[in-house]
Amino acid sequence: MKAMSLSKHLTWLEPATMSNFSGCGGLLIDGRVRVGIDTNFGTETAAWLAAAKPDVLIASHYHIDHVATLKHGEDAGVCRLLIPAAELHMVRTPENFHHLVDREDELLAFWKDLLLRHRFWPSGPVDGFVAGDIEALDAGLVAIPTPGHSPGHTSFLVPDEGILFSGDMGIDSFGPWYCWPDCDLRTLVASLIRLRDLGAKTLLTSHGPMVTGETACRQAFDKAIEVIRQREDRIATMKEQDIPDEEIVSQGLLYPGHLSYKTEFRHIMGYWEEKTLQQHLAALAAGGVFGDRH
Ligand SMILES: [Zn+2]
Repeated sequence: MKAMSLSKHLTWLEPATMSNFSGCGGLLIDGRVRVGIDTNFGTETAAWLAAAKPDVLIASHYHIDHVATLKHGEDAGVCRLLIPAAELHMVRTPENFHHLVDREDELLAFWKDLLLRHRFWPSGPVDGFVAGDIEALDAGLVAIPTPGHSPGHTSFLVPDEGILFSGDMGIDSFGPWYCWPDCDLRTLVASLIRLRDLGAKTLLTSHGPMVTGETACRQAFDKAIEVIRQREDRIATMKEQDIPDEEIVSQGLLYPGHLSYKTEFRHIMGYWEEKTLQQHLAALAAGGVFGDRH
């Protein structure tokens, strides 16, 4: 694990590996209260928690690599665990993760089995938060609802430092992700624009390197938006060529050649591709994600 001090009160933490959704980059705010955000570093997390002793742990959203922050916190006895209020039901009833696979076949059986084996979520009390709850922590943190990637996905701004933690908004080489049925592509784009226009000077993201400088931060968001436009262009071209949806899914927009991947998650990547394609086709039928296709 790599820890980088950004200021007297802020430390940026990156796990040794992010493979197989086992970890994500996170932030520790060390002020009047010690607050950790998305501090899941896989097997390294328990030792980190024992040393850092945060008072509060926050998951930016419910996706497995992020909600695991709360599971680690529960195991370490952290007393306050928070998740966006819009996603609280996901940790109250782990069965709600099952519904992410909206079909009754062997894929659902695989997904249920994977969830059972990994147990990403806590079993005890977790509180839902809204933006005002984060400001009330008095940790110099502002929560910014950024739905789309997930219904309650939240980003965090440290206004005094101009530092923005953008979670899973897709500010990395992979680009934005909107592959579960509860993702919303157009809402995600609106969230990206909202964050871009904040004028942050340092940008932290869950699965990519830090971005520094106001211009570079703005460009990083523009690049993520451009990735979405390029995907839409690609799909529009393939539809013009009458390429069947099944062929587009098996080629892979996000995970090219996913059928030959080594990770156990390859079993679900075709489903994610299908959902991504559905999002784009729905947007195309309504004039495109950016409303400029008629
Ligand atoms: Zn996510």
